[in-house]
Order: sequence, then structure tokens, then C-alpha cells
Amino acid sequence: MARKDRDHLNLLCDIGDLAALVTGSHNIETFLDSTVKLVSRHLAADVCSIYLYDETSEELVLKATVGLNPRAVGRVRMKPGEGLVGTSFEHLSPIREAHARCNPLFKYFEETDEDRFESFLSVPIQRGAQRIGVLVVQHEEADYFSERDVMALRASASQLAGAVENARLLMDLYEATGTPVETQDHAQAALKFIRGQSASEGVAHGPISFFKKSHVAFLSGNANLCSRYTVEDFHQAVNQTSRQLADLQARLSERLPESASLIFTAHFMILKDPKFIDRIVHQISEGASPPDAVRNVARHYISVFSSSSHAYIREKVSDIEDLAGRILKNLFRQGSSERQENEKGKIVVAGELYPSEILKLASEDVQGIILVKGGITSHVSILARSLKIPLVIADHPNLMDLPEETPVLLDANVGNIYVRPDKEILLQFAGHKAAGRVLPKSPPTACPITCTLDGTRIRLLANINLLSELSIAKELNAEGIGLYRTEFPFIVRPTFPSEEEQYLVYKHLFDEMAGREITIRTLDISGDKALVYSNATSGKNPDLGLRSIRFSLSNRPLFEQQLRAILRAGAEAGRLRIMFPMISSLDEFREARRIVDDCLTDLAREDLPHHPKPFIGMMVEVPSVVEIMPALGREADFFSIGTNDFIQYTLAVDRTNEKVAGYYRAYHPAVLRGLARIVRAATAAGREIAVCGEMGHEAEYIPFLLGIGIRTLSVGPQFLPAVHDRISGMRLRDAERIAEALLSEDTLAGAFSVLEAQSKLMDS
Ligand code: PEP
Ligand code: MG
Repeated sequence: MARKDRDHLNLLCDIGDLAALVTGSHNIETFLDSTVKLVSRHLAADVCSIYLYDETSEELVLKATVGLNPRAVGRVRMKPGEGLVGTSFEHLSPIREAHARCNPLFKYFEETDEDRFESFLSVPIQRGAQRIGVLVVQHEEADYFSERDVMALRASASQLAGAVENARLLMDLYEATGTPVETQDHAQAALKFIRGQSASEGVAHGPISFFKKSHVAFLSGNANLCSRYTVEDFHQAVNQTSRQLADLQARLSERLPESASLIFTAHFMILKDPKFIDRIVHQISEGASPPDAVRNVARHYISVFSSSSHAYIREKVSDIEDLAGRILKNLFRQGSSERQENEKGKIVVAGELYPSEILKLASEDVQGIILVKGGITSHVSILARSLKIPLVIADHPNLMDLPEETPVLLDANVGNIYVRPDKEILLQFAGHKAAGRVLPKSPPTACPITCTLDGTRIRLLANINLLSELSIAKELNAEGIGLYRTEFPFIVRPTFPSEEEQYLVYKHLFDEMAGREITIRTLDISGDKALVYSNATSGKNPDLGLRSIRFSLSNRPLFEQQLRAILRAGAEAGRLRIMFPMISSLDEFREARRIVDDCLTDLAREDLPHHPKPFIGMMVEVPSVVEIMPALGREADFFSIGTNDFIQYTLAVDRTNEKVAGYYRAYHPAVLRGLARIVRAATAAGREIAVCGEMGHEAEYIPFLLGIGIRTLSVGPQFLPAVHDRISGMRLRDAERIAEALLSEDTLAGAFSVLEAQSKLMDS
């Protein structure tokens, strides 16, 4: 087949799809077979094979092939360093041979019938430092594969690595048990391996502990045992509950400052609601025992809340259950000291959890959580992600039958649970676990300034979602906060936080980062940052719905509360920067800005301390803005490009849908040119323009961004050192050349090859 028939680009797209497919499938062989077929088709290769490394025998084993004799699968084995494949694996480098047999390293395996294939190309499959195997293509024609094939195959191998590693682990399990995973006896499979859904990434290993929701169980107690309690006991139990909740809140304030003060608001509100207490006291005075009175009133609230048509009211059922359970527990334990159950180092298995419970578990340093019920968009999952606790949701009956303390390895990156993992599996994950926990090394603390080799100053700021991330940002020399996502306090709690509650959160931010620049973004709720207590983001296309600034503008009182809280909290800040998300027109920007002005007038009239003159900027995330940038440049004080959404909306690709991940390409010429135009217009208007989307920390795009004129990047704090190093090692002149080359390409393929060539230069 002619060389022009090779289709590198589609290869990468299809591979991306395939990798997504395998995560939901048990059929590993089919996955590997489809992979080799797909690669051979797109590269027009006669042969494509996958060799995987078996740690027990310390051999590379042929696991799938198209083109070689199928009987060779499972039989062809070689040591690292043996033959071309073993050498590629050992040195972690590609091998391209025009005449494979002329290479002294070539080793012929009779089973394969491969002697007729002249051209040979192999690339290692690795994930981080982990060697996984080798991907090989061969062709009868001599000197068939080009340098571009090498790049495409390398890119495919790196995209496939995660899925292939997963496949290898499952195959190991298959071999250990002697039966295919999908046909194993249900109970037996459950003992060894359970596939769940990843709700919060990470890897954890430890003994399991079943979460005992003991206090909620008190809600269905026995009335006969309750006669000895008095109304004083009830009041004491209420006070004790209040103290415990306050204590829990205080313990968490370091780990989750913004929600520690917000998460229990509903609890405190109910606890302090005279109607709730009076109803109970009234029932006691009518002859009910205190525990029964608590149960009756709680059940009444539960039935009223649960029959509501509003999700946010139904959500309160958990709060009332939790609260009543706590009161009853304290009532029954009058006088006896509470036993402290500590889950440190454990993997907690729970039917379901309340947000307050996951916070408590976080304060006890649990390793990970397995939830039998739940959704990945639930509060608990969101909290687990923010708290960096690996969480898998697995609705598996046998899970609850495991004995306490059973060792489990939780691969929450893909949702796998390995029960009593053997040495081999532990070894596979040894590096991963450390990788998730260890902080990157900080750049030299004496030199917080970032410059290119030829002396251009680049400002590096941090994106912050949780206040607890501020310490890392400071430690890693962030020059300020380029994006504070204010959604979190709104997401973790059961109702909209009040102005006062938000004020406390923002004040903490300003106090912690005193003297540094801070940009606060107003509420940006969306499909994947939905509020349980508001159906604003519901609908078929939430990301095209009433999200973000649209929500704020159509809920003016809420928007005003947030703006007032920001303006008051930043009263002492030298420079206060407020940024609106998802602006799509000048009219929208003006309307939002006018509301800020109204808030300033109101605060002055109320004589409340506040910042008198904030800078007002906007995110550039919607393509409609590109055309009107000059007009916006006359009115907005600064801009920050949210590349995550800009790519999503420019290319019409859902950024959260892994099925279309292959279409989400930052190097699309329309994206690159759009970015260049935005920067040009902002700079011409004399406005500062930053990038705060993920592109800002991606090594391959940093030269482009600098080349088009970006001088401020705001990135997740953990990426600061790598971005600092990358910039410190490049020249602005080279960056400009790269940007020019990228902008001159009309096609995805062209832009991709420029990026590839640049990455190769970087690696060499
Ligand atoms: C973006 O869209 O690039 C961005 C930074 O905002 P978010 O990721 O919060 O949508
Ligand atoms: Mg965005």
C-alpha cells in the first residue's frame, strides 16, 4: 500500500476511543485484538503485534497479533534485551529497521512465520516509569516505515498505556484463577476482583473497615427501653450534639476551610430551630419518652422533606436523619464517654455516606472509600475528589460479605478493586501510590521569578479550588492566585451560602495570600458543577444552559450577595480583581459590571468596609467573544482565557465525555488561531491577558502560548515547578517561531506534526 494511505490522525482518534471502550469491558483479548487490527489498518502495516511483560516469568509474551501466525500467541516469549522487541523494551526506545534481518539483534521465532517481513518498527509501551510491553508493526516491503510512523506509533502507545496496563493486570488475574474473568463463578470473582466506577481518582491499599452508621440506626429503636430518660437528658443531648458538630467543624477547618463552616449549617439551623425543639419537648410533656419524641418529630420532618418536589428539600432528609441520629446516640450514652472509632489507614466500605461523614473520615486520614451506592456526581464523590480521597462506587453483593480487615487494593483511577492482592499486583501499583501523594519538588525558593532564557518575564499564578491548596501555592512560589473557583462552597453545602458565609471564605483567601494578586471568579455552575439545591443546570445540554454568568444574571439577589461578600472581604486588598465566567457578549459584560457598581454604591451607603475600586475582568471561553474582543478590550480591565471551555465550545466537543475525547484537540487550527487573535486584540487594547485553562501547564503548548504573546499563566499549584522549568529552558524567539509554524497550518495533521517535531526537539 502506498505511504500516503497511512492515516496517523485517525489512528490516534480511534485509539483514544478504544482506550475508553476497554475501561467498560471485561473482554481483554478482544480489546488487544481490536487494537492490533486498528493500528495495522491505519499504518497500512502487514503485521501488528502486542507483547506484554509478565513479571512472574520476567518475559515478554506475544499477546495479540494480526499478520503473524495466531498460534504464536502466548508461545513466543523473550527476555528483556533479547531480539529487537526485547531490546526496545529494555532501552525504552523505538527501533526502526529497513531490513530487520540484517540487524544482529534480530531473533527469528519459528512459530511466527515472520521471516518474510523486512521492515520492522517497535515502540515501548510504558506508563510513567512502569514498563508494560512493546507495540510492533512489520511490513514485507523493505524500508517501509518513516519517522512520522515512529511518532504516530509512539503517540498511540502512550495513549494506550493505561488501558493496556489494565488489560495486563486482568490477564494476570485470569491466569492466576485459571478461568476467564468474565466466566468465573460470581462469588469467586468477587473475592479476587471487583469492577466499579471511579468517582475520585487515586490508588489506595489497606484493610477494609465497614462504616457503621451507628447513630442513624438509633432512629429505629425500641420504645420500651426509653422510659428512663427525662426532658433534661434530651436538652443535654442536644447541647452535646451541638458541641460535637462544632468540634467536628473545627477539626476540619484546616483541611476544608470553606466547607467546614458551611457543611453543617443545615444541622445547626435545625438544631436551633425552636419549632423542632419545641415539638419534641411538647411530645415529652404529653407523655412520650424523649427518644420516641425525637424519632416522631424527625420522622415527621423526613416525610415532609422527602415528599417535596424540590431536590434541595429532599436532600435535607439526610441532614435530619444524621442530626436526629446524633441526638439519640448522645441521649443513650448519657454519662458514658463516646468510643472513638478511628479509620486511619483503612479503606472504608459504606452503603452510603453523608457529606458530614466523609468529612469526618477525611479528618481520620482514611486511605480510600468504597461506596456500595451512589453516583459519581453526588456530593460525596465531589467531596472525595476535593479531599483527594480515592473513591470507587461498586454495587456488588459480595462486597459486604468480606471479613473486616480484608486487605484490598483500590485502583480508583479506573474503578478496580483487587481483593487480597498478591505480590505481583502490589508491585504493579507500588509507584502509582507514591506518585499520587508526593508533592512535586519546589523550584528554588530564593528565585520565585520565572523568565525565559532570553530574559522575558513570565508571571506564574495558581488556580485554586479549595482553600487548603493555598499552602501548596505559597510553598511553590505562586506569584498570586490567577483563578479562584468559587463554586466549591456552593457545591458542598445543601443550600446557597449566605453573604456572611461567603465573606468568611473569601476573607480567609485574602488573609492567606496577603500582598499577592488574587483574581476571584464569580459563580460558574455548570453540568459537572451542579448544585443539588437548584435545578438551574438541569436540561438536556446543561453546558449550553442557564450556567455560569447567565445563572448569576438571572438570579440577581444571589449574584449581589456573592459580589458584596467579595468586595467586603477584599476591603484591605491592594488590588482586587473580580472575573466573570462565560461572558458571550459586551451587553452581558456591561450588565454584570453594572451590578458590581450597584453593590459598591449600596455598600458605601450602608457604610460597610469594602474595596472601593476593583478591577473587573472576564474569562474568554466562548467563541462569540473572539469577534468583539476590541470592544471588550475597551471596557474589561483584564482577560483570562479558559482554554478548557474555549476548546469545548469552539470544537463542539463535550469536555467531560470520554467517548469524544479524541475530538477534543487543542491543536485544532481554529483553536490556535482563535487564541492568537484573542491575545492580539487584548494586547492592542493594552489589557493584560492570561491563560488559566489546562493548556497553560501542558508542556507542548507553553511555547505556543508564549509565542502568541501570553505573559501570565495560571495553573494548578502542583504544576508550578514543571512550568517554571519549562519556561526557564526556552527562548522567546524559538517560542515565536513555533507559534508561527503552528499558525501557518490549516489542518489538524499539519499542526500535529509541528507539535510532534517540537516535542522531539524538547526530548533530545
Ligand atoms: C476553563 O474553562 O478553561 C477554566 C479555567 O474554567 P473551568 O475549568 O472552571 O470551566
Ligand atoms: Mg470554564
